[in-house]
Amino acid sequence: MNAKEALKTYFGYSAFHPGQEIMISALTHGQDALGVMPTGAGKSLCYQIPALLFPGITLVISPLLSLMKDQVRALNQSGIPAAYINSSLTEGQIRKALLFASEGKYKIIYAAPERLVSPAFLAFACAAPIDLVAVDEAHCISQWGQDFRPSYLKIADFIARLQKRPVVGAFTATATERVQRDILDALRLKNPKVLVTGFDRKNLFFSVQRPRNKDEWLLDYLTRHRNESGIIYCATRKTTDKVADELNAHGFPCARYHAGMETNARTENQDRFIQEQCSLIAATNAFGMGIDKSNVRFVIHYNMPQSMENYYQEAGRAGRDGESAECVLLYSPQDVIIGRFLIDQKEAREDIDEETAERQKNLDRTRLRQMENYCTQEGCLRKSILTYFGEKAEENCGACSFCVGAHTAVDATADAVKAVMGVLEMNGRYGLSLTAQVLRGSVGDIEKRKKTAPLRCYGSLSEYTEEELKSLLQLLCRENMLYRTEDEKYPLLKAGPDAKSLLAGDQRLLWFRPSPSVPAKAKSQAASWDVDDLLVRLKGLRKAIADARRVPPYIIFSDSALMDMCRKLPVSRDEFMTVSGVGFRKAEDFGPQFLSVIREYCEVRSLRPLPREAAARPPRKTWTKAARARFGLTPAEAAAFSPKASMTAAELAAQMSGLKEPKEIKKIFGVDIEERLTALGWLKETEKALLPTEEGRRHGIETIEKTAQSGQLYRTCAYPGKAQTEILHLYTEMKPSESE
Ligand code: ADP
Ligand code: ZN
Repeated sequence: MNAKEALKTYFGYSAFHPGQEIMISALTHGQDALGVMPTGAGKSLCYQIPALLFPGITLVISPLLSLMKDQVRALNQSGIPAAYINSSLTEGQIRKALLFASEGKYKIIYAAPERLVSPAFLAFACAAPIDLVAVDEAHCISQWGQDFRPSYLKIADFIARLQKRPVVGAFTATATERVQRDILDALRLKNPKVLVTGFDRKNLFFSVQRPRNKDEWLLDYLTRHRNESGIIYCATRKTTDKVADELNAHGFPCARYHAGMETNARTENQDRFIQEQCSLIAATNAFGMGIDKSNVRFVIHYNMPQSMENYYQEAGRAGRDGESAECVLLYSPQDVIIGRFLIDQKEAREDIDEETAERQKNLDRTRLRQMENYCTQEGCLRKSILTYFGEKAEENCGACSFCVGAHTAVDATADAVKAVMGVLEMNGRYGLSLTAQVLRGSVGDIEKRKKTAPLRCYGSLSEYTEEELKSLLQLLCRENMLYRTEDEKYPLLKAGPDAKSLLAGDQRLLWFRPSPSVPAKAKSQAASWDVDDLLVRLKGLRKAIADARRVPPYIIFSDSALMDMCRKLPVSRDEFMTVSGVGFRKAEDFGPQFLSVIREYCEVRSLRPLPREAAARPPRKTWTKAARARFGLTPAEAAAFSPKASMTAAELAAQMSGLKEPKEIKKIFGVDIEERLTALGWLKETEKALLPTEEGRRHGIETIEKTAQSGQLYRTCAYPGKAQTEILHLYTEMKPSESE
């Protein structure tokens, strides 16, 4: 069996996600590897498939007990013998598991890092044929990472004690370069393959909303998303309780989770959510660590979180199964006040001195301000997130509330001048809100009004709302025409370095204002699949099976598998096997029950299954970035490709787009190809240019020199015949259904 066959046979998928093949190929060829891949990229398969291909045992080191349990259950459901050994088991259970393990009953064994030093475990490991050690959440090894775990430092010594050195693979979703280096060093990886794919989660739709009434908004949203799993994050325990009560009272069963609850009640609520006894949970940021529920369809932030790091981690719990999911942040200016209050209230830790504590608080305040910028800016939200994490991004992602909303670009230079003059007149003494109120001429506080009303700028921009003025002022901050002081408790607004050139008339300011016609609830593209009868019934069946087997529903089938069933309407076992996520074991175990529901559905509606091709690929009108990322050719289409002596990425993309109907529309761009090749490790961004790596050169990509119009010599990639073939191959999907 090869990797691709294992993918189909056991997991029921027909193509690898970007990066998986590289990691799997390295490990199965005996090369150590480090994969830094975002949540949902499919890291688990990167070591589970090699585990199936190696003759011996694979040991997975993971710090999170609930994750281990989940993974082991999922493997067992797919027909792969696996077990975990950690502190949630009794001594007796551990002894039994180790006995079975030494008898070779398990292909994959999960263990917590602390376990590696226990004598019983060592005795087993030193005698067992361990081919692969996979280190999950590898960033825990670094003191520079967020969750340093000293026990991770013992892994290398453990590996050194084994009778034969196994291949070692390390995986994490987050690692700065420094953390990456720590991982490589501390695990003593040998000549490792390092793969770092981007932070971007293409299946997530990001949205910021400013509803007048958050509760009404929420009820309306939930009405439109009944039966979908979702998390509602709140800033405080009190709000969490309030939201959960409100939803329960309105007929939306909702669990809750915060640190103020008894441990038992917390666990019980969490289980209700995971087992899908209710589809919603309201929670503080205490909820989520180690939650592997893959079919969370939306994450709503009822309040603005404290930092971008927190936000991306929490929002990222949506859509781990790779299906569309939505992340909505409900912003109100009040959130900023709560946020500041929470920072001020934070109790000083005993182990740090006052000065350090104050510095930390200032850092927290800066992070809060950056978060506020995210909520109030006019621009692509995804770009803003990626930029924050130091990644390049396109101007327009096509899948966030800004990019799909209507905006008018207005020349705001004249008003910007008024605003900056006002700030100068106020001598930088006031903060953002008061400045906006002064400019608008609507200072509420009597004392403050007495002081500010005589200013010339008072009311100079009265045609705006206070919120609009605040976003204009924030735009001016981002453009360096104003700035907010960093280290004081109440940041003040002062003139910035570029104020001069604005006042001198050397600089113009373009402002993307939301058009008044924008509906308050911009219709989201994501999470908009119909909750149609069949899906509801399939979910019901899934839940019944899950309850009987005492596993969470998403372990039986992912949401995407159920949706694929709705698209393909399989009526025979063979057809059932073509559903994404259906491997041999699941077809055998669950096929008959699911097929009978689908058959009945088709009969009642006298439906005939759709033609396969159309069913697999719903037509798309717009080619958003996410759609482009899914671009693929059938073998027949690929066969029509006509190679040339050498091509650029743009030429390749143009020809590949033309292989699909309608021919006029560009379905993929040169940058898409380059991005994919970079993710694969074939290209690498150097200081001056994007150039082929050694791996890329093996695939035929060449570096050539060209002359720019300026006469300067520069280097770039060229794709001769071999590279064209290989890239075409990358984009060709060998679905069994299509090669029939
Ligand atoms: P990560 O650990 O990187 O967050 P997981 O390993 O949990 O990601 O995988 C996320 C989801 O994607 C899982 O539901 C998994 O079954 C699914 N998945 C992984 N690889 C593929 C693939 N090649 N095709 C389709 N789905 C996949
Ligand atoms: Zn966008």
